[in-house]
Amino acid sequence: MLLSCLVMVFLCQYVLAYTIDHLHCGPHGVNTIRESVEEALNIAQYAEWRMIRNDPRVNANLLQQVLGTGAKDHLIRRMGQVPAAIGQYTGDFRGTGANDPTVLITCGEGDIVYTRNAVPGDPQPDNARDTRFPNMWDAALRAGENVCGATVVASTYPTNTPLKPQFVILLCDGPPPHALSANRKFGANINNRWMGQQYDTFSNWMSSTLVHEFMHCLGQGIDNPLPSGRMETYDLASIKTLSDQDKEANAQGYSLLATGLYLRKNTMGESGAMGRRFSTNNAPGTGPHMYP
Ligand SMILES: [Zn+2]
Repeated sequence: MLLSCLVMVFLCQYVLAYTIDHLHCGPHGVNTIRESVEEALNIAQYAEWRMIRNDPRVNANLLQQVLGTGAKDHLIRRMGQVPAAIGQYTGDFRGTGANDPTVLITCGEGDIVYTRNAVPGDPQPDNARDTRFPNMWDAALRAGENVCGATVVASTYPTNTPLKPQFVILLCDGPPPHALSANRKFGANINNRWMGQQYDTFSNWMSSTLVHEFMHCLGQGIDNPLPSGRMETYDLASIKTLSDQDKEANAQGYSLLATGLYLRKNTMGESGAMGRRFSTNNAPGTGPHMYP
């Protein structure tokens, strides 16, 4: 009996789910967004596998520059937590019941309302709320700022609502760089030659952005602002200037490394761009998935 109870608890922890908001994502293609989420899950799982294997060796200086001391362990641990935090697709978000306790993926600001408390120079911030989750949220905005500003690709917020999605990933709508204007996935192109591709351009792929947003869904303190009070940062040059503690809490560092590793036939150097391809007899394995 004891054994079966333990098995039940174990299983329950893994019956997790993500839903997609068909109402708001329908115009953008629910199926292609789902493919992007699935690739993001693959990116995370491949990165974990590749870091554990570390053969051929991943550039240790780059790891340190992006995630600080202990980077390898941080990356393995956080990537390993992704499948349980996001779960499996269970269809449309219906807003009722307890069938979708992890993550809701929504598109655009259709359900966001703003409380404009601030006047310019007033330290009291504006607030934003997703009308579907009255108990949220603890994030505040500067005066006049929207969730999806001109340069915001996507955003993740906690709902503070039991038995409902714990986090909402909002894919921003609008012209580039917003997530809904991005390529959905790398797909079979991962096998291409990626030499010269800047790490700072990975947000041109929605799946890479989703790995960033997944980090905010782990409940591991990967938040914005960072522990020092600095805002999270996205480009490699800025990431390199963070303290080790801030690097460990900076979501983009994880998605940068995981995405580069996913382009698996290509090396990752310290230059800020993908390097040359591995030689055939030194190429990394294909990992735990079936890949094209
Ligand atoms: Zn972020």
